[in-house]
Amino acid sequence: MKVIEHLEKANGASLFSFEILPPLKGDTIESIFKNIDPLMEFNPPFIDVTYHREEYVYKELGDGLLKKQVVKKRPGTVGICAAIQNKYQVDAIPHILCGGFTKEDTENFLIDLDFLGIDNVVALRGDAVKSETYFKPEKDGHAYASELVTQIENLNKGRYLDDDLQNSSKTDFCIGVAGYPEKHMEAPSLDSDIHFLKKKIKNGANYVITQMFFDNQKYFEFVEKCREEGITVPIIPGLKPISTKKQLNLIPHRFKVDLPDALVKEVVNCKSNAEVRQVGVEWCIAQSKELQQKGVPILHYYSMGRSTNIQKIAEAVF
Ligand code: FAD
Repeated sequence: MKVIEHLEKANGASLFSFEILPPLKGDTIESIFKNIDPLMEFNPPFIDVTYHREEYVYKELGDGLLKKQVVKKRPGTVGICAAIQNKYQVDAIPHILCGGFTKEDTENFLIDLDFLGIDNVVALRGDAVKSETYFKPEKDGHAYASELVTQIENLNKGRYLDDDLQNSSKTDFCIGVAGYPEKHMEAPSLDSDIHFLKKKIKNGANYVITQMFFDNQKYFEFVEKCREEGITVPIIPGLKPISTKKQLNLIPHRFKVDLPDALVKEVVNCKSNAEVRQVGVEWCIAQSKELQQKGVPILHYYSMGRSTNIQKIAEAVF
């Protein structure tokens, strides 16, 4: 079932969903199930699975020589989605990127999903590879998520890259895209970012999932601004409980989001990461309850590969 159908069916109640990461190469599917199992009692209508593009690593060859190698450290997004749908009978949503994909790769990826009975995707640009400052699309790839949305929407209309294909079957993907309450790091202003978010919707996206935020006011203002700009699709809030002291610097650096003073002070006063985890869980519960009261369609949690914190939050909220 599609995300928008799940939201319609919920009839105004806030649902629970979460995002997982594929395990590092060499780990098993059981490590994924171990994280998902404790969260199934909260009836997620869908589970998102992130996509991780290739990275460049340097291997020592001896005598000071280095060999540049391309590796994917977290492969398996599509396989994990199929395994989730098979085991839990819930919708699994693969993230799909512009980065590292030609249009042909994208089309083939979408055909695989369609054949597997996966009818939801989250369409993203992806970040620059670690060795580069700016994002670079493939030679025949997409530069922005809005272009990727257009390609998916074309396939939904039966338009493949090869114009010679006649009477081709139509896919039926429900498309999610990313939104940034505190603006995307490269956007010159929030207005500019919302302008391009609107383009993703115009090109066919059905809903927005937000970047994590720790101050609900930022989400409420973002939704208000989007509505003023004529964006009417559901805007799903993305939440992450803080769990280590290191994240005080890592989260603003990596995701360009601010942490409220009150949260920072509480975390700084913690004597161990166990205490930080407790603070993070309590903060996220308070955020979740307020969002729930305001009638958000779904609360979407970033598990980052660990379900214990999310389980505690879900027990208190759902
Ligand atoms: P876009 O929508 O393409 O926007 C990128 C930037 O370009 C923005 O600043 C935007 O304002 C600007 N822009 C857009 N269109 C134009 C245009 N036509 N001209 C000029 N400027 C333009 N990353 C992963 O690698 N894997 C994942 O699984 C993943 N999942 C994510 C899930 C969510 C919910 C979120 C919020 C992010 C996720 N990311 C993931 C991170 C994401 O890939 C990065 O934030 C990336 O830098 C931007 O992706 P986007 O889809 O928002 O890009």
